[in-house]
Amino acid sequence: TMAQSKALLVLENFIGGKFVPCSSYIDSYNPSTGDVYCKVPDSGKEEVEAAVKAAKDAFPVWSSKTPLERSQILNKLADLIEHDLEAFAQAESKDQGKTITFARTVDIPRAVYNLRFFASSILHHVTECTEMTAMGCVNYTSRAPVGVAGLISPWNLPLYLLTWKIAPAIACGNTVVAKPSEMTSVTAWMMCKLLEKAGVPHGVVNMVFGTGAKAGEALVCHPDVPLISFTGSTLTAQRITEKSAPHCKRLSLELGGKNPAIIFDDADLSQCIPTTLRSSFANQGEICLCTSRIFVQRGIYNEFLKRFVAEAKKWKTGNPSDPTVNMGALISKEHLEKVRNYVKKAQAEGAKVLCGEGVDSLALPPDNQKGYFMLPTVITEVKDESCCMQEEIFGPVTCVVAFDTEEEVITRANGVKYGLAATVWSSNVGRVHRVAHRLQSGLVWTNCWLIRDLNLPFGGMKASGIGREGAKDSYEFFTEVKTITIKH
Ligand code: NAD
Repeated sequence: TMAQSKALLVLENFIGGKFVPCSSYIDSYNPSTGDVYCKVPDSGKEEVEAAVKAAKDAFPVWSSKTPLERSQILNKLADLIEHDLEAFAQAESKDQGKTITFARTVDIPRAVYNLRFFASSILHHVTECTEMTAMGCVNYTSRAPVGVAGLISPWNLPLYLLTWKIAPAIACGNTVVAKPSEMTSVTAWMMCKLLEKAGVPHGVVNMVFGTGAKAGEALVCHPDVPLISFTGSTLTAQRITEKSAPHCKRLSLELGGKNPAIIFDDADLSQCIPTTLRSSFANQGEICLCTSRIFVQRGIYNEFLKRFVAEAKKWKTGNPSDPTVNMGALISKEHLEKVRNYVKKAQAEGAKVLCGEGVDSLALPPDNQKGYFMLPTVITEVKDESCCMQEEIFGPVTCVVAFDTEEEVITRANGVKYGLAATVWSSNVGRVHRVAHRLQSGLVWTNCWLIRDLNLPFGGMKASGIGREGAKDSYEFFTEVKTITIKH
């Protein structure tokens, strides 16, 4: 309609400090209404080429600034985003489908904190030094930025995950070309408008919008981009690894998960149930760290299931801008279909759906009838080999199964190709340590979920990724180390 086309938001690439239009565009949908509301540049080789050139040109000056100078600029950018927090939160919620509450309390505050965190941590790194007295030698290491960093991020936590890469990359003195997900590009574009005011020199941060196949791959294949930091699916990571192999690029890959929650019969259910609800359904289950396999010890299985399902039924799904809503819309029509299909497959295999998809009815406000909504869904009586227990669904679907012994549950929890995050619920300290040590998982949370000290490593094992991010880990990834020996 006229009204709609008038209101269309048209994004532009940000290259060398300037917004530049693109020759073609991709439609971007509002997941809670199903309307096209935004046009995203459909960039390709040419745009990536221009952005890499701008980043390369900006590198000598930016990399020779002191850490303190860069730190002050990152802090200024954090302040500017924080000043516009509400506008960023509204935009993220509209673009992604997540609730305004989640965007306000998680996405945008964390984006701000990412910038502040690396603005601070960059001031505190020390390099190693050893003495070889007998040889008359002193050895030390020095670290230098790598050059132009290619950053590729997914749609589930758009600005949060993008700043988690941009902040350490530029804090270390690299310049960047970033490619956010084509489905959620708006907040990245909004951030570009603040860069100059924050004092980020032209060309230090370049944003190229577009699809993975065109813009993403052009970045991955560019010979002047020695480093790629990627967060997204395992399948895409395999493709990126293949494509970048001829250039021997440095890769950081943060990928999918099939995360277990292990609940022993001595768990405090009054804590465990609300937290496991969040860990299963927060952000519509679209967080790589979300729980999707809940193992409950036999003695409390029935009680857990009854209480968990009762609470899941209370979760309100609907208009993301309604502050009382717990769950918004899924990212796209295709993704909603994919998630629904998993539930259908489980049913066809003989599993039971206790609440949610196909069982309960979803009442939506008139404006949201065409949105991509589904209810929190709990599946049980499902086999460990089922696709619902093996594959990443990345939606509001969680499976609950019973177990008997510690030994058994460790084997079953480890019995998937992924290894990102696990939660363990027990009041037995010895057991908690034993289980945590034996889980194949980059992160283990005991009696809690999603509490992160950014100083410590974040990342997955097995098909969940390669490399770690965090204060020291990101510093090491975004710098090149050199060992220097001095004989006196
Ligand atoms: P995706 O792999 O489809 O896309 C991620 C990004 O890669 C997007 O920007 C996309 O355009 C780009 N891309 C796609 N194909 C490409 C190619 N051939 N070359 C270069 N770039 C390409 O993932 P998604 O659907 O956007 O995100 C969901 C996935 O991300 C889930 O698997 C989730 O678990 C994972 N994820 C992982 C973490 C983590 O930290 N481990 C965090 C969030 C999400």
